Amino acid sequence: TLVCVGVATCSMASGALKVKDAFISEIQRKELDARVMEVGCMGHCYAEPLVLIKKPGFPALLYGKLDEDLVERLVEDFLANDDPCFDFALAAIEPNDSFPTLADFPRGFYEEKLILEQCGFINPEDIDHYLAVEGYRGLVGALDKSSAAVIEEVKSARLRGRGGAGFPAGVKWEKCSQQDDKEKYVVCNADEGDPGAFMDRAILESNPHLVLEGMAICGYAVGASKGYIYVRAEYPKATSRLRIAISQAKEKGLLGKNILGSDFSFDIEIFEGSGAFVCGEGTALINSMAGNMGIPETRPPRMAVSGLYGKPTVLNNVKTFAYVPGIVKNGAHWFRQKGTEQNPGTAVFALVGKIKNSGLVEVPMGTTLRRLIYDVGEGIPNDKKFKAVQIGGPSGGCLPEDALDIPIDFDSLHDAGAIMGSGGIVVLDENDCMVTVARYFLEFTQHESCGKCTFCRLGTKHMLDILTAITQGKGSLSDLDLLLELAEDVRDGSLCNLGGTAPNPVLTTLRYFRDEYEAHLEEGR
Ligand code: SF4
Repeated sequence: TLVCVGVATCSMASGALKVKDAFISEIQRKELDARVMEVGCMGHCYAEPLVLIKKPGFPALLYGKLDEDLVERLVEDFLANDDPCFDFALAAIEPNDSFPTLADFPRGFYEEKLILEQCGFINPEDIDHYLAVEGYRGLVGALDKSSAAVIEEVKSARLRGRGGAGFPAGVKWEKCSQQDDKEKYVVCNADEGDPGAFMDRAILESNPHLVLEGMAICGYAVGASKGYIYVRAEYPKATSRLRIAISQAKEKGLLGKNILGSDFSFDIEIFEGSGAFVCGEGTALINSMAGNMGIPETRPPRMAVSGLYGKPTVLNNVKTFAYVPGIVKNGAHWFRQKGTEQNPGTAVFALVGKIKNSGLVEVPMGTTLRRLIYDVGEGIPNDKKFKAVQIGGPSGGCLPEDALDIPIDFDSLHDAGAIMGSGGIVVLDENDCMVTVARYFLEFTQHESCGKCTFCRLGTKHMLDILTAITQGKGSLSDLDLLLELAEDVRDGSLCNLGGTAPNPVLTTLRYFRDEYEAHLEEGR
């Protein structure tokens, strides 16, 4: 019997390590033939701590919201005697006659997993688990092709960067591959800093080899022999699992010199960032890696021409690299058969806030916000009314109920005044004040501004002062016009995306929830 305990940062915060220890001591006390194994995040954060039990003769069963008492019962009733405790089991994993599977729930029904498929089901600290699910087959396949053919496959998949900008990954790779320089770099941006976002962390903690494999394929395609993962120092679990994964991949000859006996050598190192949100911006990120201040620079030249240490560099997000092994292994059509024509594939979201089933979800691009919130997330708790959804982090926007039928993709969200961002979605209900929400996100970006541009440094401060006054009922209607004017100036006069998108929460709340601003001012009269 195998007891798989979900151990990622989110589950550890909910007591997963206590649950794991309780299983180990109960199994030892009863001298049972059962093994306890750590897996990563299963995505069902609303039900942490989670455990998957695989006992011969039974379907693999998932149990949630465990504590030490429930562990004692499971060990006694299920592991020692054959009663699977269906009364508090969440679901079975494979189809069976005795219990509903995850796919029978709306969440499971609407989710389609291309990169989260193995998260929570394999041991992220054991490369053999990854190899057993066809891991590194994409790299093997890539080495059988020319680098140009690999780039062509990624281009033909129309993979758009999942860090937020949505730029075609294959185009970036091709540009980098065309540079004559012998020294090139592949950098993975794991500097996830949006409030409410944890997609990249969960992937790195749950399936780190998927990202390493994607980076190695990229290195082969563009002619780079060195890769870096820029990971937040606030992600210790992701960092430690990455270190283990890199060392195991080297031992197996899947990273390092002459990979699998080929001429291709590729090494990956971890670079720990120090927590500045602006370092998620590409040029600031490579500045900080080179030992300089993490401050954005003007472009061009593009990163693919002159990036890290002035050398051609491909910089992609964690999720972008995670799609690559599947695309190379299964072909571009595998990716394109999900999602929409211009936005193929899936999108991974951290669904949080006023939502029943919070967690990590993966749905086809083009899924509507309504489906995501009401079917996958099962709606708002305590019968409260939906008010808005904040999408795209502090650079994104707040969309009202009318926007629930907007398909989630890079282009549709842009048209609605929001951005896709890297995948954080915060659901807000009737009790939330949209002016306070806008103020919260503006305070975040104002605090994180590097101060290089006047509009970003002073404009956001001026906006924040006006917003603070409005939440205290001070000011007049003309302040709303001033706020709009400032927002447009900050947006247009900022060098990087942090300043360029910082006004979005204010602009969207003024567009969709102006009445709440007016109500604050009315209260103050
Ligand atoms: Fe710095 Fe803001 Fe200018 Fe970006 S927009 S470079 S964060 S001051």
